[in-house]
Amino acid sequence: MKVRKGDTVKILAGKDKGKSGAVLKVFPVEGRLIVEGLNLVVKHVRPRKQGEKGQKLYIPARIQAAKVMVVCKNCSKAVRTGYAFTDNNGVREKQRVCKKCKQNI
Ligand SMILES: [Zn+2]
Repeated sequence: MKVRKGDTVKILAGKDKGKSGAVLKVFPVEGRLIVEGLNLVVKHVRPRKQGEKGQKLYIPARIQAAKVMVVCKNCSKAVRTGYAFTDNNGVREKQRVCKKCKQNI
């Protein structure tokens, strides 16, 4: 999965198509992630104590990673990402790069 926590992503499908937001959490096994303030679902909460009212809570739901694109920190476009290896004193380091501007992101 090429999306990481803290990334900004653009949503490509669903009711928040076209919007972008920060990634709060990723679920690599499921291939899903949670984007702050987007893909909201209503959670109805029943009153638990006497006198307390029920509420509708809007919470962000998991979205498939294939339905988002990473927004590059350098060129600020929604881009495909790839990986590149750099040589750091003989140690090969894998880095994620933007396919458009070729910078590490
Ligand atoms: Zn870029």
